[in-house]
Amino acid sequence: MKNKNLPDNAIEISRLSKEYKGVGGAKNLLALNSIDLKIPRGSMFGLLGPNGAGKSTFINILAGLTVKTSGKAVVWGFDLDKNPRSVRASLGVVPQEIYVDPFFSPKETLHQQAGMYGVLPKDRNVDFLLKTLDLEDKADSYTRTLSGGMKRRLLVAKSMVHRPPILILDEPTAGVDIELRQQLWTYIRKLNEYGTTIILTTHYLEEAEELCDTIAIVDNGKIVRCAPTQEILNDADSKSLIVKPMDGLKDLNPALKEMGAIIDKDDNIIIGYNPKNETSRDILRKVEESGLSVRDFSVSGASLETVFLSITSKK
Ligand code: ADP
Repeated sequence: MKNKNLPDNAIEISRLSKEYKGVGGAKNLLALNSIDLKIPRGSMFGLLGPNGAGKSTFINILAGLTVKTSGKAVVWGFDLDKNPRSVRASLGVVPQEIYVDPFFSPKETLHQQAGMYGVLPKDRNVDFLLKTLDLEDKADSYTRTLSGGMKRRLLVAKSMVHRPPILILDEPTAGVDIELRQQLWTYIRKLNEYGTTIILTTHYLEEAEELCDTIAIVDNGKIVRCAPTQEILNDADSKSLIVKPMDGLKDLNPALKEMGAIIDKDDNIIIGYNPKNETSRDILRKVEESGLSVRDFSVSGASLETVFLSITSKK
Protein backbone atom coordinates (compact mmCIF):
# COMPACT_ATOMS: atom_id res chain seq x y z
CA MET A 1 0.00 0.00 0.00
CA LYS A 2 1.27 3.49 -0.87
CA ASN A 3 1.68 5.82 2.05
CA LYS A 4 3.63 8.95 1.49
CA ASN A 5 4.77 9.11 5.11
CA LEU A 6 6.23 5.63 5.12
CA PRO A 7 8.99 4.13 3.00
CA ASP A 8 7.93 1.69 0.27
CA ASN A 9 10.82 -0.54 1.23
CA ALA A 10 11.51 -1.40 4.84
CA ILE A 11 15.08 -2.18 3.85
CA GLU A 12 17.19 -1.25 0.84
CA ILE A 13 20.63 -2.69 0.45
CA SER A 14 23.07 -1.93 -2.32
CA ARG A 15 26.40 -3.53 -3.04
CA LEU A 16 26.81 -4.63 0.55
CA SER A 17 29.97 -6.61 1.25
CA LYS A 18 31.60 -8.02 4.31
CA GLU A 19 35.08 -9.43 4.38
CA TYR A 20 36.30 -11.08 7.56
CA LYS A 21 40.04 -10.68 7.94
CA GLY A 22 41.91 -13.95 8.22
CA VAL A 23 43.78 -14.30 11.49
CA GLY A 24 47.30 -15.78 11.75
CA GLY A 25 47.94 -16.02 8.02
CA ALA A 26 44.51 -17.42 7.23
CA LYS A 27 42.86 -16.14 4.06
CA ASN A 28 40.27 -13.39 4.25
CA LEU A 29 36.71 -14.56 3.89
CA LEU A 30 34.16 -12.75 1.76
CA ALA A 31 30.99 -13.52 3.74
CA LEU A 32 28.81 -11.08 1.75
CA ASN A 33 29.71 -10.37 -1.83
CA SER A 34 28.17 -7.13 -3.08
CA ILE A 35 24.53 -7.91 -2.43
CA ASP A 36 21.57 -5.84 -3.57
CA LEU A 37 18.22 -6.34 -1.90
CA LYS A 38 14.93 -4.53 -1.42
CA ILE A 39 12.53 -5.72 1.26
CA PRO A 40 9.07 -4.20 0.79
CA ARG A 41 7.29 -2.67 3.77
CA GLY A 42 4.75 -5.05 5.26
CA SER A 43 6.26 -8.18 3.79
CA MET A 44 7.11 -11.45 5.41
CA PHE A 45 10.54 -11.93 3.96
CA GLY A 46 12.70 -15.03 4.20
CA LEU A 47 16.47 -15.18 3.85
CA LEU A 48 17.01 -18.79 3.06
CA GLY A 49 20.34 -20.48 2.73
CA PRO A 50 22.62 -23.22 4.00
CA ASN A 51 24.85 -22.77 7.05
CA GLY A 52 27.69 -20.39 6.31
CA ALA A 53 25.80 -18.65 3.48
CA GLY A 54 26.09 -15.22 5.12
CA LYS A 55 22.61 -14.77 6.65
CA SER A 56 23.73 -13.93 10.19
CA THR A 57 26.41 -11.61 8.88
CA PHE A 58 23.70 -9.71 7.00
CA ILE A 59 21.51 -9.42 10.07
CA ASN A 60 24.38 -8.52 12.35
CA ILE A 61 25.33 -5.65 10.05
CA LEU A 62 21.79 -4.28 10.20
CA ALA A 63 21.66 -4.76 13.96
CA GLY A 64 24.92 -2.85 14.38
CA LEU A 65 26.80 -5.89 15.73
CA THR A 66 29.09 -6.29 12.72
CA VAL A 67 30.67 -3.50 10.67
CA LYS A 68 30.23 -3.81 6.93
CA THR A 69 33.25 -3.59 4.65
CA SER A 70 31.49 -1.62 1.91
CA GLY A 71 28.12 -0.84 0.40
CA LYS A 72 25.01 0.88 1.61
CA ALA A 73 22.17 -0.12 3.89
CA VAL A 74 19.01 1.95 4.33
CA VAL A 75 16.60 0.84 7.03
CA TRP A 76 13.15 2.47 7.25
CA GLY A 77 14.55 5.36 5.26
CA PHE A 78 17.60 5.82 7.52
CA ASP A 79 21.12 5.36 6.20
CA LEU A 80 23.11 3.03 8.44
CA ASP A 81 26.25 5.16 8.07
CA LYS A 82 24.57 8.48 8.79
CA ASN A 83 21.86 7.51 11.22
CA PRO A 84 22.79 4.31 13.07
CA ARG A 85 20.62 5.13 16.10
CA SER A 86 17.50 5.59 14.00
CA VAL A 87 18.30 2.34 12.22
CA ARG A 88 18.57 0.60 15.57
CA ALA A 89 15.30 2.09 16.77
CA SER A 90 13.57 0.82 13.62
CA LEU A 91 14.57 -2.78 14.22
CA GLY A 92 13.59 -5.46 16.67
CA VAL A 93 16.01 -8.37 16.57
CA VAL A 94 15.19 -11.74 18.08
CA PRO A 95 18.40 -13.63 18.72
CA GLN A 96 18.87 -17.32 18.12
CA GLU A 97 19.76 -18.31 21.63
CA ILE A 98 17.16 -18.21 24.35
CA TYR A 99 18.24 -16.16 27.29
CA VAL A 100 15.74 -14.61 29.63
CA ASP A 101 16.47 -13.67 33.22
CA PRO A 102 14.85 -16.46 35.25
CA PHE A 103 14.02 -14.33 38.30
CA PHE A 104 11.99 -11.64 36.62
CA SER A 105 8.44 -12.04 35.40
CA PRO A 106 7.61 -11.51 31.72
CA LYS A 107 5.97 -8.21 32.61
CA GLU A 108 9.06 -6.99 34.51
CA THR A 109 11.34 -8.20 31.71
CA LEU A 110 9.39 -6.19 29.15
CA HIS A 111 9.28 -3.04 31.30
CA GLN A 112 13.03 -3.30 31.88
CA GLN A 113 13.69 -3.63 28.18
CA ALA A 114 11.38 -0.71 27.39
CA GLY A 115 13.31 1.34 29.98
CA MET A 116 16.56 0.49 28.22
CA TYR A 117 15.12 1.91 25.02
CA GLY A 118 13.96 5.00 26.88
CA VAL A 119 10.27 4.29 26.29
CA LEU A 120 8.28 6.23 28.89
CA PRO A 121 5.92 4.13 31.05
CA LYS A 122 2.84 5.83 29.56
CA ASP A 123 4.00 4.94 26.02
CA ARG A 124 4.72 1.28 26.71
CA ASN A 125 2.86 -1.46 24.89
CA VAL A 126 3.72 -4.18 27.39
CA ASP A 127 0.13 -5.32 27.95
CA PHE A 128 -0.56 -5.44 24.21
CA LEU A 129 2.52 -7.60 23.65
CA LEU A 130 1.69 -9.93 26.52
CA LYS A 131 -1.77 -10.38 25.03
CA THR A 132 -0.64 -10.74 21.40
CA LEU A 133 1.97 -13.34 22.29
CA ASP A 134 -0.37 -15.15 24.64
CA LEU A 135 1.68 -14.58 27.77
CA GLU A 136 -1.01 -12.86 29.83
CA ASP A 137 -1.58 -15.83 32.13
CA LYS A 138 2.11 -15.94 32.99
CA ALA A 139 2.66 -12.17 33.04
CA ASP A 140 3.56 -12.12 36.74
CA SER A 141 5.16 -15.55 37.16
CA TYR A 142 8.87 -16.14 37.36
CA THR A 143 10.23 -16.48 33.84
CA ARG A 144 11.97 -19.71 34.84
CA THR A 145 8.53 -21.34 35.15
CA LEU A 146 7.77 -20.63 31.46
CA SER A 147 7.84 -23.38 28.87
CA GLY A 148 10.38 -23.23 26.03
CA GLY A 149 7.73 -21.95 23.63
CA MET A 150 6.69 -19.20 26.04
CA LYS A 151 10.31 -18.14 26.52
CA ARG A 152 10.72 -17.78 22.79
CA ARG A 153 7.54 -15.72 22.63
CA LEU A 154 8.85 -13.55 25.45
CA LEU A 155 12.01 -12.93 23.39
CA VAL A 156 9.82 -11.82 20.48
CA ALA A 157 7.87 -9.51 22.81
CA LYS A 158 11.14 -8.17 24.21
CA SER A 159 12.36 -7.24 20.75
CA MET A 160 9.11 -5.34 20.09
CA VAL A 161 8.85 -3.10 23.19
CA HIS A 162 10.15 -0.04 21.39
CA ARG A 163 7.54 -0.61 18.63
CA PRO A 164 9.97 -1.16 15.78
CA PRO A 165 8.31 -1.35 12.37
CA ILE A 166 10.68 -4.17 11.37
CA LEU A 167 11.18 -7.42 13.22
CA ILE A 168 14.14 -9.64 12.40
CA LEU A 169 14.23 -13.22 13.57
CA ASP A 170 17.44 -15.16 13.21
CA GLU A 171 16.58 -18.85 12.82
CA PRO A 172 13.47 -18.44 15.00
CA THR A 173 12.70 -22.11 15.26
CA ALA A 174 16.14 -23.75 15.26
CA GLY A 175 15.88 -26.79 17.47
CA VAL A 176 12.19 -26.26 18.14
CA ASP A 177 9.81 -29.18 17.72
CA ILE A 178 7.20 -29.08 15.01
CA GLU A 179 4.29 -28.19 17.29
CA LEU A 180 6.09 -25.25 18.86
CA ARG A 181 7.25 -24.16 15.44
CA GLN A 182 3.69 -23.98 14.16
CA GLN A 183 2.68 -22.09 17.28
CA LEU A 184 5.44 -19.53 16.89
CA TRP A 185 4.53 -19.05 13.23
CA THR A 186 0.99 -18.15 14.30
CA TYR A 187 2.30 -15.33 16.49
CA ILE A 188 4.73 -14.10 13.88
CA ARG A 189 1.88 -13.98 11.35
CA LYS A 190 -0.19 -12.00 13.81
CA LEU A 191 2.54 -9.38 14.22
CA ASN A 192 2.78 -9.18 10.44
CA GLU A 193 -0.98 -8.66 10.19
CA TYR A 194 -0.65 -5.76 12.63
CA GLY A 195 1.71 -4.17 10.12
CA THR A 196 5.20 -5.26 11.20
CA THR A 197 7.59 -6.10 8.38
CA ILE A 198 9.06 -9.49 9.23
CA ILE A 199 12.45 -10.73 8.10
CA LEU A 200 13.57 -14.16 9.08
CA THR A 201 16.55 -16.29 8.34
CA THR A 202 16.07 -19.97 8.12
CA HIS A 203 17.58 -23.07 6.71
CA TYR A 204 14.26 -24.87 7.07
CA LEU A 205 12.76 -24.86 3.64
CA GLU A 206 9.27 -25.60 4.87
CA GLU A 207 9.45 -22.63 7.22
CA ALA A 208 10.19 -20.25 4.36
CA GLU A 209 7.58 -21.90 2.17
CA GLU A 210 4.90 -21.79 4.85
CA LEU A 211 5.55 -18.35 6.26
CA CYS A 212 7.20 -16.03 3.76
CA ASP A 213 5.59 -14.16 0.89
CA THR A 214 9.01 -13.39 -0.61
CA ILE A 215 12.20 -15.38 -0.42
CA ALA A 216 15.81 -14.49 -1.10
CA ILE A 217 18.04 -17.51 -1.52
CA VAL A 218 21.50 -16.79 -0.16
CA ASP A 219 24.45 -18.92 -1.06
CA ASN A 220 28.12 -18.25 -0.64
CA GLY A 221 27.62 -14.58 0.25
CA LYS A 222 25.42 -13.86 -2.76
CA ILE A 223 21.70 -13.57 -3.35
CA VAL A 224 21.18 -16.19 -6.02
CA ARG A 225 17.43 -15.70 -6.39
CA CYS A 226 14.90 -13.28 -4.91
CA ALA A 227 11.23 -13.50 -5.82
CA PRO A 228 7.73 -14.10 -4.43
CA THR A 229 7.62 -17.56 -2.86
CA GLN A 230 5.07 -18.82 -5.35
CA GLU A 231 7.19 -17.69 -8.25
CA ILE A 232 10.20 -19.53 -6.89
CA LEU A 233 8.11 -22.64 -6.46
CA ASN A 234 6.92 -22.29 -10.04
CA ASP A 235 10.55 -22.40 -11.15
CA ALA A 236 10.53 -26.09 -10.57
CA ASP A 237 10.17 -28.09 -13.70
CA SER A 238 8.35 -30.98 -12.14
CA LYS A 239 4.81 -31.20 -10.90
CA SER A 240 2.53 -34.19 -10.68
CA LEU A 241 -1.11 -34.67 -11.48
CA ILE A 242 -2.62 -37.33 -9.24
CA VAL A 243 -5.74 -38.89 -10.69
CA LYS A 244 -8.19 -41.18 -8.88
CA PRO A 245 -9.91 -43.34 -11.48
CA MET A 246 -13.67 -43.92 -11.28
CA ASP A 247 -13.23 -47.69 -11.34
CA GLY A 248 -10.40 -49.85 -10.08
CA LEU A 249 -7.57 -50.12 -12.52
CA LYS A 250 -5.30 -53.03 -13.29
CA ASP A 251 -3.35 -51.62 -16.16
CA LEU A 252 -2.69 -48.32 -17.87
CA ASN A 253 -4.02 -47.81 -21.37
CA PRO A 254 -1.39 -47.14 -24.08
CA ALA A 255 -2.07 -43.39 -24.18
CA LEU A 256 -1.41 -43.07 -20.44
CA LYS A 257 1.70 -45.22 -20.74
CA GLU A 258 2.84 -42.91 -23.52
CA MET A 259 2.48 -39.97 -21.10
CA GLY A 260 4.79 -41.68 -18.60
CA ALA A 261 2.00 -42.33 -16.09
CA ILE A 262 2.50 -44.73 -13.20
CA ILE A 263 0.10 -46.38 -10.74
CA ASP A 264 0.91 -45.85 -7.06
CA LYS A 265 0.18 -48.21 -4.17
CA ASP A 266 -3.24 -46.61 -3.57
CA ASP A 267 -4.24 -47.19 -7.22
CA ASN A 268 -3.88 -43.52 -8.11
CA ILE A 269 -2.43 -42.62 -11.47
CA ILE A 270 0.51 -40.21 -11.21
CA ILE A 271 1.58 -38.20 -14.22
CA GLY A 272 4.61 -35.94 -14.02
CA TYR A 273 4.72 -32.80 -16.15
CA ASN A 274 6.65 -29.60 -16.62
CA PRO A 275 4.46 -26.62 -15.63
CA LYS A 276 6.44 -24.39 -17.97
CA ASN A 277 5.18 -26.37 -20.96
CA GLU A 278 1.79 -27.67 -19.90
CA THR A 279 -0.92 -26.95 -17.39
CA SER A 280 -2.63 -29.46 -15.14
CA ARG A 281 -5.78 -28.90 -17.24
CA ASP A 282 -3.93 -29.99 -20.39
CA ILE A 283 -2.83 -33.17 -18.67
CA LEU A 284 -6.27 -33.85 -17.26
CA ARG A 285 -7.83 -33.41 -20.71
CA LYS A 286 -5.38 -35.92 -22.18
CA VAL A 287 -6.18 -38.38 -19.41
CA GLU A 288 -9.91 -38.10 -20.14
CA GLU A 289 -9.34 -38.35 -23.90
CA SER A 290 -7.49 -41.62 -23.28
CA GLY A 291 -10.86 -43.01 -22.19
CA LEU A 292 -10.31 -43.01 -18.43
CA SER A 293 -13.15 -41.84 -16.18
CA VAL A 294 -11.77 -39.57 -13.50
CA ARG A 295 -13.32 -39.60 -10.01
CA ASP A 296 -11.05 -36.99 -8.51
CA PHE A 297 -7.68 -35.37 -9.07
CA SER A 298 -5.12 -33.16 -7.37
CA VAL A 299 -1.87 -31.49 -8.27
CA SER A 300 1.23 -31.87 -6.18
CA GLY A 301 3.55 -28.91 -6.51
CA ALA A 302 7.27 -29.03 -6.42
CA SER A 303 8.68 -28.41 -2.98
CA LEU A 304 10.97 -25.54 -2.23
CA GLU A 305 13.57 -28.18 -1.47
CA THR A 306 13.75 -29.24 -5.12
CA VAL A 307 14.02 -25.64 -6.27
CA PHE A 308 16.56 -24.78 -3.61
CA LEU A 309 18.80 -27.70 -4.52
CA SER A 310 18.61 -26.93 -8.20
CA ILE A 311 19.52 -23.26 -7.61
CA THR A 312 22.32 -23.75 -5.09
CA SER A 313 23.89 -26.60 -7.07
CA LYS A 314 24.25 -24.40 -10.18
CA LYS A 315 27.27 -22.56 -8.82
P1 ADP B 1 24.90 -18.17 8.10
O1 ADP B 1 24.25 -17.29 9.11
O2 ADP B 1 24.24 -18.16 6.78
O3 ADP B 1 25.12 -19.57 8.63
P2 ADP B 1 27.28 -16.57 8.62
O4 ADP B 1 26.94 -15.18 8.26
O5 ADP B 1 27.27 -16.93 10.07
O6 ADP B 1 26.37 -17.59 7.79
O7 ADP B 1 28.73 -16.91 8.06
C1 ADP B 1 29.14 -16.61 6.73
C2 ADP B 1 30.63 -16.95 6.60
O8 ADP B 1 31.40 -16.02 7.36
C3 ADP B 1 30.98 -18.33 7.13
O9 ADP B 1 31.97 -18.87 6.28
C4 ADP B 1 31.52 -18.06 8.51
O10 ADP B 1 32.46 -19.03 8.88
C5 ADP B 1 32.17 -16.70 8.33
N1 ADP B 1 32.15 -15.90 9.56
C6 ADP B 1 31.05 -15.54 10.28
N2 ADP B 1 31.40 -14.77 11.34
C7 ADP B 1 32.75 -14.63 11.28
C8 ADP B 1 33.71 -13.95 12.09
N3 ADP B 1 33.36 -13.23 13.15
N4 ADP B 1 35.01 -14.02 11.72
C9 ADP B 1 35.38 -14.73 10.63
N5 ADP B 1 34.53 -15.39 9.83
C10 ADP B 1 33.25 -15.36 10.14
